[in-house]
Amino acid sequence: MTPPSPGQNATILAVELTDFSAIELRDAIRSGETSAADAARACLARIEEVDSGENGVNAFIQTFPERALEQAMKIDERVAKEGAETVGPLAGVPVAIKDNMCLAHGRTTCGSRMLENYESPFTATAVQRLIDAGAIVLGKTNLDEFAMGSSTEHSYFGPTRNPWDRSRVPGGSSGGSAAAVAARMAPLALGSDTGGSIRQPAGLTGVVGCKPTYGRVSRWGLVAFASSLDQIGPFGRTVSDVALALDVICGFDELDSTSVNTSAPACAQAVDAPINKLRVGVPKQARNEKNHPAVAEALERAIGVYQSLGAQIVDIDLPTIEYGIAAYYIIAPAEASSNLARFDGVRYGRRAEIGAHEDLISLYSRSRAEGFGEEVQRRIMLGTFALSSGYYDAYYTTALRARRLVKEDFDRVFATEGGGPGVDVVLSPSTPTPAFRIGEKADDPLAMYLEDYYTVTANLAGIAGVSVPAGLASMDDGVRAPVGVQLFSPPFSEERLMRAANMLESGLDWNDRRPPL
Ligand code: GLN
Repeated sequence: MTPPSPGQNATILAVELTDFSAIELRDAIRSGETSAADAARACLARIEEVDSGENGVNAFIQTFPERALEQAMKIDERVAKEGAETVGPLAGVPVAIKDNMCLAHGRTTCGSRMLENYESPFTATAVQRLIDAGAIVLGKTNLDEFAMGSSTEHSYFGPTRNPWDRSRVPGGSSGGSAAAVAARMAPLALGSDTGGSIRQPAGLTGVVGCKPTYGRVSRWGLVAFASSLDQIGPFGRTVSDVALALDVICGFDELDSTSVNTSAPACAQAVDAPINKLRVGVPKQARNEKNHPAVAEALERAIGVYQSLGAQIVDIDLPTIEYGIAAYYIIAPAEASSNLARFDGVRYGRRAEIGAHEDLISLYSRSRAEGFGEEVQRRIMLGTFALSSGYYDAYYTTALRARRLVKEDFDRVFATEGGGPGVDVVLSPSTPTPAFRIGEKADDPLAMYLEDYYTVTANLAGIAGVSVPAGLASMDDGVRAPVGVQLFSPPFSEERLMRAANMLESGLDWNDRRPPL
């Protein structure tokens, strides 16, 4: 056999490197088996190959090729000069960042015309923690405008396509981050989850995505959508990678007043240890007759895996799941209407041209009408209406009451005292259906909102949740589309959540499956 020419060798290497998990890459970089520069080059080449063009995935709004390579070479230099122990736990690992997180480099657009040219003067805490751990930021990923949506179709920069079938959506709003990880453009990405925007796209693209407990990850530098619900979290192709990323981004930050001052979790070292006599609660509401057959199947498959691992399956009742969507779609738009008031074309955001005879109100309304897309405008109107005098109690206060009931429902099933079933985690589908077609729900906001049926409750209750790939659905057009299942755990129990997710992953034998792209 003739040895491969240098060119061939590079291709082989590149293909392999994009398949590496974050932990495998980090270890290979530390041991000198590969370099951070090669890892960055491989991911950038993959982005070039699959992300642009008419039928490209369109996961990225911007990439930073030169800067990424520069940073990667610095990591390589440090490994060579100072030794592998001196670099962080994500040394040389390429990452993708949802474009609603500030980075003091490039633009932070939130997928909006309003912020098309906005350059942040600072970097979000969670992103900075990744960088401090040695991660290499490849670029900023596409999202539904201001993170409002479940399909990444509501982006000023065009829709992101699902790597499994490019006529379908990747879910949203963090669809770009999910698609980037699924399509091997990056092993790790950050998203934000206000009502499901990490877990739902993770489910629809066949990757792992975690929304940590509210208060676990600093929101400083995350452009606010609904502040009492927003939380940043990681996407990866394995539970172990997500566990490691959690350890890095979690922790107290005095710049976020809702950041909780408790020690960061140690998920990475715990993740491989199965939980003895794990009690898995399955709400009867999870076995909804409206679930797609493949979703129902995936749920039963997950239950089977847990049973085979000696876990105990406990039937539980979470009646307030039914009220989640109604409460969320009052509370989230109400907070959004207030948070987005700052984009007035004067202090923040795109400024419209107005005539000499027009007044300040025209400037505001013209700027906002031009800068915001239809869905964002709908949310602002919904929220403003719900908060207006005369309607406040009927809508907003009622929604807050429902939110409290959702929280109490979860408290009850996690508790042992008071006759509670004392489950360790709750298992449900991540979404009612696998990925739908681009355009399919575009004219039906309510159908789009129902995508979040299984995810919003975690945000309302402030608890942690993770979506784990649990199978492939055969769609009626012959396409194979991923299906995810979701686990919830009580506040600040991310270690437990990751261990339980890892048990599921080990029993489902999913990791080697890749989109046909
Ligand atoms: N899909 C939900 C919405 O449109 C959730 C979005 C999110 O979590 N950012 O509001």
